[in-house]
Amino acid sequence: MKKKLIAGNWKMNGSLAANEALVKGLLAGLDRSACQVALCVPSVYLAQMQALMAGSAIDLGAQDLSQHAAGAFTGEISGAMLNEFGVRYCIVGHSERRQYHFESDALVAAKAQRALAFGITPIVCVGETLAEREAGKTEEVVKRQLAAVIHANGHCISEIVVAYEPVWAIGTGKTASTEQAQQVHAVLRAQLKAASPQADRIHILYGGSMNAANAAELLAQPDIDGGLVGGASLKAPDFLSIIASAL
Ligand code: PEP
Repeated sequence: MKKKLIAGNWKMNGSLAANEALVKGLLAGLDRSACQVALCVPSVYLAQMQALMAGSAIDLGAQDLSQHAAGAFTGEISGAMLNEFGVRYCIVGHSERRQYHFESDALVAAKAQRALAFGITPIVCVGETLAEREAGKTEEVVKRQLAAVIHANGHCISEIVVAYEPVWAIGTGKTASTEQAQQVHAVLRAQLKAASPQADRIHILYGGSMNAANAAELLAQPDIDGGLVGGASLKAPDFLSIIASAL
């Protein structure tokens, strides 16, 4: 059975001093036999994090990358640049990027493709808004978002990580119930299985106010292979407690 994956998403948080204290706290408390662990950090801190986590059991992740390989794209960061800092994972299509940066399904799919081309595992986020859930459109929305990535990536799809993040649960303190989360994860798993005979190896993470109190129950669901954790990844004891729930 594959180990669970717990990935922290620091979003636009951190400072040189705070990062060092947080990572030292995590490394001091981390059991090496634990599940897979990654930290997706702001790009300006990749070099610092690479040095702090060298030789450790924590993998380095980024929060976005350009769909382009290189060139006149001011402000963007390429897969090649992420490679230079030992980045293993890159979040693509986080709902905050879909919402505030108007990222379309097609763009998210192109970013996933670009990450894979550089040997970086994209953590592809999908999820419905509250209005979409209330309109009974949850399955339609997440399937449409994932279909774009499957279409663009073909047989490479078994190399991605998927994160189901209901938008209404992100940073709100509202968590999807275990039943709600498992139901959507099962839908995503079936869609991945139809696309790839190796879909069982794909991690499908849950994200949305996962914390030390609710992690164990969510992670016990058959199709929840880990978590994408925002706020609770910024405190070492909370993040370590989530990791401990994932054994
Ligand atoms: C996220 O940003 O991906 C996330 C799930 O945030 P939070 O855990 O704070 O809801």
